Amino acid sequence: MATDIYESRESQVRSYSKNWPASFEKASGAYQYTEHGTRYLDFFSGAGALNYGHNHPELRDLIVDYVANDGVTHSLDMKTPAKRRFLETFERIILEPRNLDYKVMFPGPTGTNTVEAALKLARKVTGRQHILSFTNAFHGMTLGALSVTGNSMKRRGAGIPLTNSSKIPYDDYFDGDIPDFIWLEKVLEDSGSGVDKPAAVIVETVQGEGGLNAARLSWLKALADLLRRHQILLIVDDVQAGCGRTGRFFSFEEAGIHPDIVCVSKSISGYGLPMALTLFRRELDVWEGGEHNGTFRGNNLAFVTAARALELFWSDDAFQNELAGKIDELAEGLAKITEHVNGATVRGRGFLTGICFPDADTAGKVAAEAYKRNLLLETSGPKDEVIKIMPPLTISSEDLHKGVAIIEDAVLAATGQSDEPSRLRAPH
Ligand SMILES: *Cc1c(COP(=O)(O)O)cnc(C)c1O
Repeated sequence: MATDIYESRESQVRSYSKNWPASFEKASGAYQYTEHGTRYLDFFSGAGALNYGHNHPELRDLIVDYVANDGVTHSLDMKTPAKRRFLETFERIILEPRNLDYKVMFPGPTGTNTVEAALKLARKVTGRQHILSFTNAFHGMTLGALSVTGNSMKRRGAGIPLTNSSKIPYDDYFDGDIPDFIWLEKVLEDSGSGVDKPAAVIVETVQGEGGLNAARLSWLKALADLLRRHQILLIVDDVQAGCGRTGRFFSFEEAGIHPDIVCVSKSISGYGLPMALTLFRRELDVWEGGEHNGTFRGNNLAFVTAARALELFWSDDAFQNELAGKIDELAEGLAKITEHVNGATVRGRGFLTGICFPDADTAGKVAAEAYKRNLLLETSGPKDEVIKIMPPLTISSEDLHKGVAIIEDAVLAATGQSDEPSRLRAPH
């Protein structure tokens, strides 16, 4: 490929295509196929936008029918049967059984849009400006979301000071040496602390981009209690950890907390289509009509697939129970792999998991070796020191084990413990 249109025309800002240069033409379930028909097992799932795999046949057929019948595709925030069905289904299958009386807002269709809406609403409701977020947090790339994000390279990209927010330590930031909320508790009670009372704290239950750190459920509970006592809003950014990624529909369910505001995007459409929700307690619905707006808030193809995905996977416990078994299988497989490398540890929760290596370069090498073996695997963390493992939630046990075996081979190769290429085990 002497003349590569990507090299010559597309901006340098692209990222995934640099590590994974193949051109993917087709996809189905846990697999993607290149233009030349080579099959790759996908353990990245569109960064969590494809929790039910690529092109689920039933969802695909719904889209085909909807389009063939001239269904409205773009509707701003006007009423359509597709939107009504989504709202009714979300209420019936997700909100009511969980006793969550959230109002549903459709911000723009991306994760960063729902975070911006959440921050705006928290400030409007409380009349306060300051937002607290956590070390190594990731909340998106627009200015408000960047201001609560940790990564210094991404923050620098703003080009202006990112203000009205500060960082507080995430769970276990000090290796358990310092009691969890000693600083926050103290400065909130001390009128001389100089720390403005925040409107809200925004948190990920598992830090998808920041190194797969998983907050303990007891820590989340303590955070929620502390904020309630001080009348500070709790925003859970469930853009990546939600929609089943950690085992339940919302990642905070196991902690038994009820956040004031919840950000949802990535897999909510069920099909990889752009869609986002901002959920908030009924009393917080103080918006003026049109005060937060956007052209692409009515993606009806996404409403159609989102509603059906909720019915297919969340109308009873079957899917969740099956997933729980696979989560255990994956955890077991990863624990075995860590035995090959001194100091390697398993991170994360559910199918938002990974392995952290003591030598920061190892993870990148493992991901590269995995790619050679036709497995898509990302890295995560401030130094990209963690391999990030997020198979589709619908993956078969067989493919899950296949992927884990490839990761093991990749780890052995990356750490110089195997004889290339006899152990090559491509997923064919
Ligand atoms: C991906 C992500 C976002 C941003 O979503 P975009 O759709 O990329 O704007 C925000 N928060 C979390 C936790 C994410 O993983």
